[in-house]
Amino acid sequence: MKKIFFLLLVLVAIKVIAQTNSIYPESLLITPEKSNFEKTSSYADVIQFLNTIKTMSNNIHIGSIGKSTLGKDIPMVVLANPLITTAEQAKASGKPVVYIQANIHAGEIEGKEVSMMLMRDILLGNKKHLLQNQIIVFVPIYNTDGNDQFAKGLRPSQENSPLETGIRENGQGLDLNRDGIKMEAPETQGMIKRILTDWNPQMTVDLHTTNGTWHGYSLTWAPGYLSSGEAGPYTYTINTILPYITQQVKQKNDLYFGPFGDFNLREGWPLKNFYTYNHHPRYIINQIGLRNRMSILSEAFAHERFYQRINSTYHFVYEILDYCNKNAASIISINQTAETNAIKKVLNSAGKIKKGVRFKMTPLKEPINHFRTYDYIPYTSAGGTTTFTKTGKIVHYDSIAYYADFKDTLSATLPRGYIIPAAFTAIADHLKKQGITVTPIGKKQVYTGEVFVVEQFSKATRKFEGHLMASAEGQFILKDFTAEKGDFLVDMAQPLTNLIFYTLEPQSDDGLLVWNFFDAYLEANNINIQAVEYPIFKYFSTKTTSKKQK
Ligand SMILES: [Zn+2]
Repeated sequence: MKKIFFLLLVLVAIKVIAQTNSIYPESLLITPEKSNFEKTSSYADVIQFLNTIKTMSNNIHIGSIGKSTLGKDIPMVVLANPLITTAEQAKASGKPVVYIQANIHAGEIEGKEVSMMLMRDILLGNKKHLLQNQIIVFVPIYNTDGNDQFAKGLRPSQENSPLETGIRENGQGLDLNRDGIKMEAPETQGMIKRILTDWNPQMTVDLHTTNGTWHGYSLTWAPGYLSSGEAGPYTYTINTILPYITQQVKQKNDLYFGPFGDFNLREGWPLKNFYTYNHHPRYIINQIGLRNRMSILSEAFAHERFYQRINSTYHFVYEILDYCNKNAASIISINQTAETNAIKKVLNSAGKIKKGVRFKMTPLKEPINHFRTYDYIPYTSAGGTTTFTKTGKIVHYDSIAYYADFKDTLSATLPRGYIIPAAFTAIADHLKKQGITVTPIGKKQVYTGEVFVVEQFSKATRKFEGHLMASAEGQFILKDFTAEKGDFLVDMAQPLTNLIFYTLEPQSDDGLLVWNFFDAYLEANNINIQAVEYPIFKYFSTKTTSKKQK
């Protein structure tokens, strides 16, 4: 009897091990696991891991999105069953591509480690089912150059756990998560071309760690925010996917996740308001909304230890992949509908409707109830003012206004397309890098539409990402415009129509004008003493000439 009982126990134990853990060779342990979570992986560690795991599975392909400023290959890893190696094969498979991007800010290291852990569990462990209905593309170390600038004390509010991390910026000193419109970094150009354009992911997840507010969540999330894009992908992500996953991780892993944001102690305590970040498409996650695709920002909680942040990020990404695997068809269909609607709007309403170009943050209709946070106590400072210090106690507050909605404060007419004069070939080339179709004009053609007259042109006095950011005030005037052979036409009836609008509108709060693409032209035309026409013409229709040419 005892023997049988023992045998049963052994069998149960074997079964439990088989279900929960796979036995991996030591060569597949990642740097944090080998160092008691005191170290994060270097670029060489990641490459070695990828080369090792590639020899152990037939479902992995390793490519590259290009080279960093310092000349390092930025690996992209495709997991698929059956294996595919090209974007064309991905398209032919009918399965959605889900893109996981880690380490855009190289001090925020969890995503990099979690990407390798997930590859291990999907290829060789108990997460093989995640490849049933989808193709997963990882870029585990997007900011390769920043990663290896290891130093102590770079993330003090990350509890210095681990002691040394890389830096936020890339090899050019740029923040890669502000580069989505100006595209100055080789990383951005490579990712937009090789991933967003070629592989066309239906869902993108960008992995970060926030060192802001002491809210009580182990991880906070945000969808790609809605500005002048289509609502479908945004609404589904924020109302369906994120609440479901938040409930799953609570149930399965006892983890508390919530919406991304910060509160401001200068507003007093308990808090009344919680504020997210901006809507601008310079942030990759927001730009993906303008591309009619779903996207999720993941922010591990800096004030927890490295192993805890890895754990939270792991479960979040796992649940997203599990959700996408189970709901692949709905996700593709919602994105496709958004794309079709955006094009229909141009075909049916060009010249008749307006869309937002500048936005302000306002509260969502529904406040947050049961908001989880560390509590604060008031005290009087030496100067006599009331201030607050945090306690270790977690409390909950109700009716918190959540500033995560974006209302337009300025709008512009939706055009049928834009004409870029030949002198602005650089603008046409820039749009092509975004995956936008730009066509050379073959013969003289008159268009009816609007030109924007810049009456005031102002620039910031302090640099942001190397730029004195610009803005233009003025007015649109109805006009005919004669395009010559060699000029460029941007037809708005194409999938990236919302991105084109945001990029080319002269008063857009994150367009090319903001990023100084038109400074030289406006200044050469003495904008400081006279009004100057913005050189990109927006047309509503082509003008049919009275003399019909045969
Ligand atoms: Zn970040």
